[in-house]
This record gives sequence, C-alpha cells and structure tokens, in this order.
Amino acid sequence: MSREVVPSLIGPEVVNQLAHDIAEAAPYLSELDGATGDGDHGINMTKGFSLAASRVDASSNLSACLDVLSGTLIDDVGGAMGPLYGVFFEALAAEASGHEWIDAATFAAMLESAVRAVLEIGGATLGDKTLADVLIPSLDDVSTRLAAGDPFDEILVSMSATAEQSRDATKDLVARLGRASRVAERSRGHIDAGAASCAVILQSLAVTLRRRLTVQPQI
Ligand code: ADP
Ligand code: MG
Repeated sequence: MSREVVPSLIGPEVVNQLAHDIAEAAPYLSELDGATGDGDHGINMTKGFSLAASRVDASSNLSACLDVLSGTLIDDVGGAMGPLYGVFFEALAAEASGHEWIDAATFAAMLESAVRAVLEIGGATLGDKTLADVLIPSLDDVSTRLAAGDPFDEILVSMSATAEQSRDATKDLVARLGRASRVAERSRGHIDAGAASCAVILQSLAVTLRRRLTVQPQI
C-alpha cells in the first residue's frame, strides 16, 4: 500500500504561489468587479495576499502559514473578501494543524471545513452568484472523487477543472448577495469577481500541491 501526500513544509510555497497567481489575475478580477460592483476586487486581493506573503516565516508549516494569511485578510483588507477568505484560510489552517503530511482525505476535510465557514459567515447558497458557486461544486467534486478512491493528483486536476467551469457558469446568474445584487438583473452576462478569484485560489493550491506530491510507503 502507498499513499500520495504533500509535506506540511510547503506552507511558504503555498502562500507565495497564491500571492503570485492573485497578482497576475488582479487586472482581470478588478475588471469583472467593475462590471457589477466597485472594481476593487483585484486590488483588495493583491494587497492581502502580497502582505501575507511578506509576513510568512520561511520555516513555518502549512497550518501556520495559512493562519498568517487568514489573519492578514481579516485585519488588513477591506471589501467583502477580507472576512470571507479570512475564515476560509482560517478553517484550512485549523484542519491542517497537526498533520506533518497532507493526503487526499486531509485535503478534502480541510476544504469541507473551509467551505462551511464561508457559507456560515456569508450566508450564500448555490446560485447567488458569489464565490460559493465555485466552492460548493469544487468541494462536491473532491468529496465524490475521494469516496471513489481516485488518486490525490487526479482529485486536484479535477477540482481545478470544476472550479473553472463553475466560475464560467456564474455568467448566467443574477446576483442575490453583496454589492452586485444592487444591479441585480444587470449582473447577468458577467462572471462574478469572487467566483473568479476563488477559481484562481483553488487552482493555485492545486498547482503547488501537485508539484510537491510524493508517494509514501504504508505498512
Ligand atoms: P466588495 O463587494 O465589498 O467590493 P470585493 O469586491 O472584495 O468586495 O468582493 C466581491 C465578491 O465577494 C463578490 O464577487 C462575491 O463573489 C463575494 N461576496 C459578496 N458577498 C458575499 C457573501 N455574502 N457570501 C459569499 N460571497 C460574497
Ligand atoms: Mg468590490
């Protein structure tokens, strides 16, 4: 028997990759937010993730690094995304705590806890045209594949594809929550900015985890 795992020492790499990918996507995220909101999503996100990357200790483990990211988003970032992604990374950190190695089951538990935290604090449900429209299908996909016994690598590839598809599907929805709900029907035809940043985050996590996947022998 063997299992695919990533070491918890990938923490700094995870946060640095997130900061890089968010900064790269920032103009696109702000453009999307500008179509239905105030156009600050790319700026808010870049500020938070870059600040967190500068604060992360190079020798910290995954849980500690995600905690720094969470604290930075909650304390130092404006907009709806600060608290939403703040609790997301707080829950990821809590579930990762105590694990020297992260396997598919641990990752699925981390994601489940993080998605639950976002839904609890934000009150979003499927179809509200928020980042929940990416989180819910992506988690469903991970859980289904984990239950089917799929390899960790395939689970991460599939999660990325689902995040991308569900991001694009928000285009047809009408915003029922957050600032974009004020323009309601006029939000149709635009991808939701939070759904787009959420897809960037899940894809970034998948990239770093896949890069560091190793096979551990099991007795
Ligand atoms: P603001 O709307 O305050 O300017 P941002 O631009 O940073 O905040 O983030 C906007 C995104 O936040 C939206 O595109 C949407 O996906 C997400 N969002 C807003 N309210 C909620 C909520 N209650 N639950 C989940 N996501 C939300
Ligand atoms: Mg905004």
